[in-house]
Amino acid sequence: FSPKVIDLNELIENLKNLLQRTLGEDIRLRLNLVERVWPIKVDPSHLEQIILNLAVNAREAMEEGGELLIKTENIEVDSSWAERYQMPPGAYVRLTVADTGCGIPEEIQDKIFEPFFTTKKEGTGLGLATVYGIVRQNRGHIHVFSRPGEGTTFYIYLPRADEAM
Ligand code: ADP
Ligand code: MG
Repeated sequence: FSPKVIDLNELIENLKNLLQRTLGEDIRLRLNLVERVWPIKVDPSHLEQIILNLAVNAREAMEEGGELLIKTENIEVDSSWAERYQMPPGAYVRLTVADTGCGIPEEIQDKIFEPFFTTKKEGTGLGLATVYGIVRQNRGHIHVFSRPGEGTTFYIYLPRADEAM
């Protein structure tokens, strides 16, 4: 675990080709990166792992093709927002990973981050547990919003570097 101060947009740009290959031809990759993203302090290989795990799940949720959106934003989380989403207020970089796939039924949305929880015949149930572990290790937060038949959006909040030191 070797955290470094990094530019998330650069990391995503460098991962773009691998991501498109991972998704295959039928899934369009769309990037929406904020200008001058705030620095964050994370282990870059862990962050790549997060994005790839989410992309693999997205591909498996979009068997008929679709779109994967990866978005970055600089966000000041105020106290009412913080209370609503049970996280400390402050400055965060928000990474959004959104697909147009099958969605996640409401009843299982609070189980998907548990190790070995899977709905797939040959699933390991470890992808999201790993994502969750890495996010928490970096003092970040993750939330999921999903509607069956419409798609799934993961929001990952990572504290701005100067607040993480
Ligand atoms: P696995 O992919 O091996 O099943 P994960 O931990 O990666 O394990 O995901 C756990 C479960 O969460 C999946 O089996 C699936 O039911 C659900 N899931 C995760 N990501 C998505 C997604 N993008 N769209 C729909 N369902 C998802
Ligand atoms: Mg998975």
